[in-house]
Amino acid sequence: MLRVLLGLLFPPLCHACRKFIPNAGELHLCLRCREELHPITSPLCTVCGIPFATPGGIDHPCGACLTTPPRYSAARAALCFDGPARELIHRFKYDRKVHLAHPLTLLANETLSSFALSSGAELLFPVPLHRQRLRERGFNQAILLGRPLSKMWRIPLVVNNLRRIRRTEPQVTLSAAERQANVRGAFSLADPAAVRGKKVILLDDVYTTGSTVAECSRVLRKGGAEEVYIITVARAV
Ligand SMILES: [Zn+2]
Ligand SMILES: [Zn+2]
Repeated sequence: MLRVLLGLLFPPLCHACRKFIPNAGELHLCLRCREELHPITSPLCTVCGIPFATPGGIDHPCGACLTTPPRYSAARAALCFDGPARELIHRFKYDRKVHLAHPLTLLANETLSSFALSSGAELLFPVPLHRQRLRERGFNQAILLGRPLSKMWRIPLVVNNLRRIRRTEPQVTLSAAERQANVRGAFSLADPAAVRGKKVILLDDVYTTGSTVAECSRVLRKGGAEEVYIITVARAV
């Protein structure tokens, strides 16, 4: 009775396209939006995780990773950053729909749990926000994604060690080279001893050019982290 009443008052709407869905399920996405998600699967680059266009091949390092190996050990993303995935992340981050952390973590777990668990990572670091940006936004999206994933994967979440010590320009409007310069020296470790000899995962919502995670990785490696793995919900392809 209560369920019926609640259904009438708050009809279940798809998290991405806002259309009515009678059987919402845990993901709360309509069938069409589910079909329009593009999970990143093999063949992909074993280092940066970019998917290769030719189907049927095997995973191998891409040309860019061979020429300029990144500072992290390996990066993986669950979804291509387009269509409903882009919509979900935009609404989550910029429209402050924090409840969308739930479907996003379910989607991340679906594709990346085996990578996370087989990495042997002992600590999970969300990419930090500068405190001023945190005040403006009201939350750090990477922490909201990290809390449930930390429970699912049983890897402790570390929120106060890696810090963003310099406020940077939003990366969205910048070129790859500008992004790299923009984040240079923006992060530091409050307690490097806690990462020494550890395998860690660095978590963020989107991987665009990889400059932010590369700079965080540099700091974590300098602090003595043995391996740094990158996990993001989505990746620009
Ligand atoms: Zn939909
Ligand atoms: Zn690559």
